[in-house]
Amino acid sequence: MAAPQHVRAAPLARALRATATATASAPVPIKSQGTSRRALLGLSEPQLRQLALDLGQESYRGKQLHDLLYKSRAKQIQDFNHVPKAFREALLGAGWSAGRSPVHHAITASDGTTKILLKLEDNRLIETVGIPVDDDNKGSSRLTACVSSQVGCPLRCSFCATGKGGFARNLQPHEIVEQVLAIEETFKHRVTNVVFMGMGEPMMNLKSVLEAHRCFNKELKIGQRMMTISTVGVPNTIKMLASHKLQSTLAVSLHAPNQKLRETIVPSAKSYPLGALMDDCKNYFLETGRRVSFEYTLLAGINDEKQHAEELAELLRTCGGGYHVNLIPYNPIEGSEYKRPYRKVVQAFVDALEARKITVSVRQTRGLDANAACGQLRNEFQKNPLLEIEPSPSTEPTLVPA
Ligand code: SF4
Repeated sequence: MAAPQHVRAAPLARALRATATATASAPVPIKSQGTSRRALLGLSEPQLRQLALDLGQESYRGKQLHDLLYKSRAKQIQDFNHVPKAFREALLGAGWSAGRSPVHHAITASDGTTKILLKLEDNRLIETVGIPVDDDNKGSSRLTACVSSQVGCPLRCSFCATGKGGFARNLQPHEIVEQVLAIEETFKHRVTNVVFMGMGEPMMNLKSVLEAHRCFNKELKIGQRMMTISTVGVPNTIKMLASHKLQSTLAVSLHAPNQKLRETIVPSAKSYPLGALMDDCKNYFLETGRRVSFEYTLLAGINDEKQHAEELAELLRTCGGGYHVNLIPYNPIEGSEYKRPYRKVVQAFVDALEARKITVSVRQTRGLDANAACGQLRNEFQKNPLLEIEPSPSTEPTLVPA
């Protein structure tokens, strides 16, 4: 196993304080890091109506903006043909943009999984993935969007291509929302499910994640129960998320049944003891009524033995009844020391959990032939390590390469 790399405790604490003011209601937009203009995408109809009034227009012009963004999917203010030229010029003059980025590259696997790279205004690349699933029994089809919440990731989990690529900055709400629009345009199909499981740790950018979640639900009509927010565990943020009482699933990436092993796989776990994490998950279930999904990546010879499954079952017993285990046989990435477990080992792990009455599923590997592991495609196109960028005070946390 490669030497794990660690996140400094103090910057992590500062980053957590920064998320402490997170709120589900979309605030008045401000110009923000990574963008030179303020973005219309992500705003609600009342906010757009207020903006129209602020720029000397009738309120209904705001409704027109709403339709242009979410129904017509106009990509530039210059294309807003339904509103007067003077209003378009006022928007541009006040520093607004539609908030859409061009597709830089897209790659499709044989199973239809499509990974899209978007090129942001500051030339950063982010990944987003569309995963189509046909439900033959119901005669319907689902399209899941796996969205990124940060450019890179500061947490550096040892098996993760995104973590290996470093961290640049948090995404703004519109940069999360536009990923779903890009997937819908690529597939010419409505996105039915959203998982915040792409690049980055969503809980370290909770304010933008909650604003994007609101927009998906209210503007794009994606049900809250169709969305999953994933985390590797960031102290205090699960409580914060629970207080919003969303009807979305919380997915917690455990990857190990005990603190010692977990710290070798997820270095940031040092700042969040497993007992405290499990207590927070239990409380999330009690507060929201939504069961927690525990994600467990099976790494051959590391955490995939029967004794690990037994220990995991014991650990979950402390968490009450509201949970489900999702096993993910490791999807190898270039340069990784980890290997994918054999199918019979995975089955033995499942059997050991089921024998202890744990509900468990094994995630089907999608798009194995399309650089599917999170961060892999981006790393191919963005060769400059993100860590070379000097983080500004608002891009915390600072990283310490091992
Ligand atoms: S697994 Fe998630 S939290 Fe860990 S480094 Fe990768 S993107 Fe970040």
